[in-house]
Amino acid sequence: MDTPTPEEGFTALTDDAERNRLLAEMAEQSTDMISRHTPGDWRFIYASPAVTHLLGYSVEEIVGVSAYDLYHPDDVENFQRRAPSVRYERGLYTHTYRFRCKDGHYTWLESTSRTLRDPDTGDIREILVVSRDASGRIEAEQTNRRLARVLESTSDLVIFTSLDHRITHLNESARQVLALDSATPSAALSELFTDTSYRLLGEAAFPAALRRGNWSGELDMCDRRGQTIPVSLELLAHRSYHGDMEYFSLVARDLSAAKAAEAQLKAYQAEIEHASRLVTMGELASSLAHELNQPLTGIVNYLRGIQRRFGDQAEVRWQDLRVPLEKTVDTALRAGGIIHRMMDFTRKRAPVHEAMELLPVVDDLLQFCEPNAERHNVVLENRMTLADARVVADRIQLEQILLNLIVNAIEACQTPAGQPPLKVWLEAERRGKQLEIRVRDQGPGLPPHSSDKLFERFFTTKKNGLGMGLAISRSLVESLGGELWPRAVEEDGMEESGMEKRGACFCFTLALADDETPTTTN
Ligand code: ADP
Repeated sequence: MDTPTPEEGFTALTDDAERNRLLAEMAEQSTDMISRHTPGDWRFIYASPAVTHLLGYSVEEIVGVSAYDLYHPDDVENFQRRAPSVRYERGLYTHTYRFRCKDGHYTWLESTSRTLRDPDTGDIREILVVSRDASGRIEAEQTNRRLARVLESTSDLVIFTSLDHRITHLNESARQVLALDSATPSAALSELFTDTSYRLLGEAAFPAALRRGNWSGELDMCDRRGQTIPVSLELLAHRSYHGDMEYFSLVARDLSAAKAAEAQLKAYQAEIEHASRLVTMGELASSLAHELNQPLTGIVNYLRGIQRRFGDQAEVRWQDLRVPLEKTVDTALRAGGIIHRMMDFTRKRAPVHEAMELLPVVDDLLQFCEPNAERHNVVLENRMTLADARVVADRIQLEQILLNLIVNAIEACQTPAGQPPLKVWLEAERRGKQLEIRVRDQGPGLPPHSSDKLFERFFTTKKNGLGMGLAISRSLVESLGGELWPRAVEEDGMEESGMEKRGACFCFTLALADDETPTTTN
């Protein structure tokens, strides 16, 4: 036997009067508002009590009012445009619109209307409407639309995937950056990452997101053309209300431009550092030329001596030549050493941060600066007592820092030849896990009111100065994790050592190396 429709069942079970009574009772009890309206101006003929809950009016207040007076002005036209289809075409019409409540605010209603016609004439007698509150749904839809718009217009790459990592949605940026043309390609996530990054996703990111909801880190994505795109990625695991895993979302920020700018800045910085080394070497050139001249003269003298002594002899014994020739070789090696040092210092190279003994570097450098000090009538001293101190640094960068500070100190201490020379000396002191190195001099001290400007690029008080030395030294010290600052000489208690209370002192810190310190390259 066929199951009766609800309407047939209803008809079968009741007579007309009983049915009308039940219908009226349902209308009165319903939380949806049931209303009847006149055709044309949609005046309320009847409204169920739900009108008070939905709109704030009492039944008596709303009966006789035209619904048109309470529609939101923006919806009236829309409603009128659609009205004919309600009456003449389908008979049933559902639509959503704003309706004015008694307190003046508008609420969203969703109404289903049906026209009731005179069976004899076919004229519309009235319109029956069932309305319910749709504000929650409309607000949720609006929020969703707003979120969707943000998602589509953000420059971040947004990707949704199923639990088995298949892509279910990509936003516009993701499609553009990854060069994917289809709106929802059924590609696997593995195709969008480099092998190493996808492995990291699988081994660390997804397990972490499943455990605590999210994971973030830097990875490399790759587009369809095989180009690598560095990104900072936030991976989120989404669960249902019941706690079941539903899907993943990935929000990636393209770091290509930032990384390129960073690399460019680094290259630029390296160029400046290199140029500054060339300048420093240029400043030292005349002293070095003098320094080179000595061994060259020595070599010539040894060779001339050999020439003088043995020039007229047909045969020469090796024993007679051994000493002058060994001296010649040693002197040539000393000259070669100076040239090698210059070349080492001025060549372009990537910094290598490693643990190293400080003392040999300082001794070596002071020896290298000796000719320059002599030329300025300055005495250079190494007063470092921490013979075994090991620091983490790049050797050339450390030399560049020390050289800038020592050359500045020597220039500040310049005294005419014949007068008592002034001193420049180096000290070091342990400070926790760091070593503080000080370059001190007996010069005139820092220019007045200069403390803010000293480390600015191009600040110089010298006729031929560049004003780059201190700026570069500070950035190099900072790249090694330390600090560089000038210190007032009065703080140093120089008078205790019987010296005049004058001069300048520059201090910088370097990390002390414990033996496990690994070697890293920047
Ligand atoms: P430059 O040596 O080319 O002038 P720097 O950046 O090395 O550039 O130094 C900037 C300025 O700091 C110098 O011109 C000088 O006025 C001051 N200065 C640096 N070191 C000393 C020092 N030891 N004594 C006095 N003034 C110094």
